Amino acid sequence: MARSGRKELVLGEGERLTDIARQSAARYGIKVVRYEAASAGTTYPQANRSGTGAAVAVAAFADGMYDLLIKGGTCVIPEMGLIRTNVCIRGDKVAAITSDTPPARDVVDASGKYVLPGIIDPHTHLGLFTGLETELETETRSAVLGGVTTIGTYFNQEESYLPLIDSLRRSVPALSRVDMIPHLSMRTDEQVAEMDRYSAQGMNSYKVYMCGVPGIYPNQEDGFIVKVMKRMKELPPWANPILSVHCENQSICDYATEEWQGRTLKTLDDWNETHPNLAEGEAVQRTAYLSEEIGVRAYVVHSSTKEAMERLSLLKHDKLYVETTSPYLALDTGSGIGAYGKMLPPIREEESRLALWDGIRKGLIDTIGTDNTVMTSAEKNISGGMHGAGAGYPTLGTHLVSVLNEGLFRQEVMLDKLVPLMTMNPAKIFGVYPRKGTIMPGSDADIVIVDLNNERTVRPRDLLSRSDFSLFQGSRLRAWPVMTIKGGRIAAQNGRITDDGVRGKILEH
Ligand SMILES: [Zn+2]
Repeated sequence: MARSGRKELVLGEGERLTDIARQSAARYGIKVVRYEAASAGTTYPQANRSGTGAAVAVAAFADGMYDLLIKGGTCVIPEMGLIRTNVCIRGDKVAAITSDTPPARDVVDASGKYVLPGIIDPHTHLGLFTGLETELETETRSAVLGGVTTIGTYFNQEESYLPLIDSLRRSVPALSRVDMIPHLSMRTDEQVAEMDRYSAQGMNSYKVYMCGVPGIYPNQEDGFIVKVMKRMKELPPWANPILSVHCENQSICDYATEEWQGRTLKTLDDWNETHPNLAEGEAVQRTAYLSEEIGVRAYVVHSSTKEAMERLSLLKHDKLYVETTSPYLALDTGSGIGAYGKMLPPIREEESRLALWDGIRKGLIDTIGTDNTVMTSAEKNISGGMHGAGAGYPTLGTHLVSVLNEGLFRQEVMLDKLVPLMTMNPAKIFGVYPRKGTIMPGSDADIVIVDLNNERTVRPRDLLSRSDFSLFQGSRLRAWPVMTIKGGRIAAQNGRITDDGVRGKILEH
């Protein structure tokens, strides 16, 4: 409200302010009034469902026209299923779902195609090898082309996050084509002390690394992780914070890496041995225990192994959420992708990949992300082979199609099962549902239309990332998105960007 210059907050019947909200209102000079006192003669369309406010709302829509009508498609609506229905959009919101065909300024014929909520990739990294601003432009272009309309992005620094939050509020609306949920990695006591201030800004997603990334991130000791969890527990209940945990046992990975000293890594199987499966299984077990015992929500990022699935089948509880990534579901050490596939945790052997699909069937896995880490083949040092290459790959542009190609046609996991893992589930976990993650009246009009028969060969330059390679380059993938609608605007169509003016924003919890 302060940012938009509004000076009066009207509380509806039964609504109360938290102490933090009351203090913030006082600080920004916002007057808090009760609904009854304000209703006469004042228009507050959001709070006032009868009287003058409603009259204003009706007048604005009196022409009965929608801005955009998506007709004839089969909608995939989480918790409802597959429904042949038309979607009416007004402004940047879904306004109606109907079997009628009301008039609209623009009509999209989705006959024979599937209409999905815009894809939420909860796990990206941006700006690791170049400026954040560059990748906000290039990688969100790739995202929107691939059907992704919201990204979760991990930030990792030792300084306070308050200036970063401020700068994201400017750079994301200026440069990004998708909305962003920032995740803040906890590194210092100062940051932990500031968590209530991050909450007051709507930022409630944090991260710790049980195992670091050499030269990029240090690992956090268990004691510090417990400290972060206890601090989360002290935040007001509305904050509902969540802690992402990179689950690998540092000591086991160090030991396994030492075993390879003096030998040259040649294959993805070799690389896999330096970060053994049991290092992930052990860390998942520790995370499940700590989050249950302390009573805070935890989110296992990028789970990759059969061992993790085995532990989760025993230990998963209602505060523990689990992510895997599209590359782990589509590729394994036998996929012939060589050093391009070098990643942390590693792309695993086929047995683990199939165990992840079983984890999806059994409901052990809640979300599918990418762990998108952008680099060119030169930055990755592909010429250095498996031994010399760095870990990471760009994968936003192929995220949706790679999951559908493998899931629908090889694993026979159907759309109604797969789509919630990429839409509703991350939206609920990170506190942006039902604004995001579904197609319902009032939801943001972020929609992707998929043609299950659209099959083509992946060429990196078509993906519009700043990177020059793709894990899937040269492969034929089927079930591409053919249109992405972001905030009611057709952002991409048939593999091309169609509206350069589409921009996203920071999503508050
Ligand atoms: Zn990551």
